Amino acid sequence: MKIIRSKYLPPLRNYSAINLFGVFFVHPDVAVTKRLINHESIHSAQMRELLYLPFYILYLLEWFIRLFGRGDAYFNLSFEREAYKNEANYNYLNERKHYAWIKYMRKKKKNKKKSRKRFRRNIKKY
Ligand SMILES: [Zn+2]
Repeated sequence: MKIIRSKYLPPLRNYSAINLFGVFFVHPDVAVTKRLINHESIHSAQMRELLYLPFYILYLLEWFIRLFGRGDAYFNLSFEREAYKNEANYNYLNERKHYAWIKYMRKKKKNKKKSRKRFRRNIKKY
């Protein structure tokens, strides 16, 4: 994965990194950890199986729909949910099934909500 340090990408300051067609842009002050690289590599796998452009179309479409739902639209995205859930599993990409993000489209169970909210407060967006 190619990593480029950029002051301008991602454009929003509350995001620390963005993956554009497999090239990973990260703010200069953000530490590039093994976990962050794994997170972005999961997005690269999602992009490849969707042939890149449809990934971005689906990402934006789902984000727009989730703006009207409960919680943070970004953290509710199926692509992000798959990446955050598995970013600490460094073997995930070897065992991952194609289109695994689809199962993350379903709503979360209510009893898990509280712990997820607590977890979300402590993580950066990427
Ligand atoms: Zn992400």
